[in-house]
Amino acid sequence: MAEPKYAVELTPPDIEPYRAGNVGVDYVTTFDSGVSGPHVLVTALTHGNEICGAIALDRLYRAGMRPRRGMLTLAFDNVAAYRSFDPRYPVVSRFVDEDFNRLWDEPTLDGQRQSTELTRARALRPFVDAADFLLDIHSMQYATAPLMLAGTLDRSVALARRVGIPELIMRDAGHAAGKRMRDYGPFGDRASTKTALLIEAGQHWQSRAAEVATDVMLRFLIAVGALTRDDAAPIAGPDFDAHPRQRIIEVTEAVTITSNKFEFVDDFRGLEVLSPKGTLIGRDNGREVRTPYDDCVLIMPSRRLAKGHTAVRLGRFVA
Ligand SMILES: [Zn+2]
Repeated sequence: MAEPKYAVELTPPDIEPYRAGNVGVDYVTTFDSGVSGPHVLVTALTHGNEICGAIALDRLYRAGMRPRRGMLTLAFDNVAAYRSFDPRYPVVSRFVDEDFNRLWDEPTLDGQRQSTELTRARALRPFVDAADFLLDIHSMQYATAPLMLAGTLDRSVALARRVGIPELIMRDAGHAAGKRMRDYGPFGDRASTKTALLIEAGQHWQSRAAEVATDVMLRFLIAVGALTRDDAAPIAGPDFDAHPRQRIIEVTEAVTITSNKFEFVDDFRGLEVLSPKGTLIGRDNGREVRTPYDDCVLIMPSRRLAKGHTAVRLGRFVA
């Protein structure tokens, strides 16, 4: 299947002004309001080629936004990968050695293994540990509707509803290949109150992804009490006042690839709703992969069809 061509409409911002930061770790800055309140963390470039998040943080910095209460930490995550971003080959700068967003469990972070991404994750870990609320900004391969990835816990879904956009909220448990930052430690613990969201703001390089990323970030900061609506309005975009009916997709399973020969039977882009139960989706070394129920939603089919990775996730609308 041919690789779809997307024009690179977004310009990667210069983040050098944010390198020094103020906490002793490059590309991390903490603003302390001096007033008691939650510690809020917003992260971009978890994947080095997902530049909409860097644009959103750059706008926040340039506007001089400061938290009304609590603390606000802004971090650019996989800067090593971002540095290699080349609009002629935008796909290759996702990571340097491995996926930064599959490393977030204690044994991996505490272990002996070394990589560019693990070094960075270990440096950022204290800020993730300190955060009461996390928004991690991403984008997607295909130009489908934005998705808020809320994990499996009710409090994350409730926060996604308070943010109010995008229309689609996904309840999901992540990937077999490793834990995401949004699921790390207390963020995935039913007994904690710490809450994380991950926004997939749209196609990686379409200009709309930067608008969605910015508006979701601002509405998140308002929802957790860091900003007021008036604070945020000067850099708000087209979705800032939108109030769509939000729907929830519950992810029931991830199709994890078991061979080096996985292929989809169609050019799926994501959010297709397939019926009836038993519809053929793909073949994993000849083994047929079929939908487990009627009205099965395909979520973010991957083009990196390697053994051990997620080919696609399957879910259904529950609200
Ligand atoms: Zn991503």
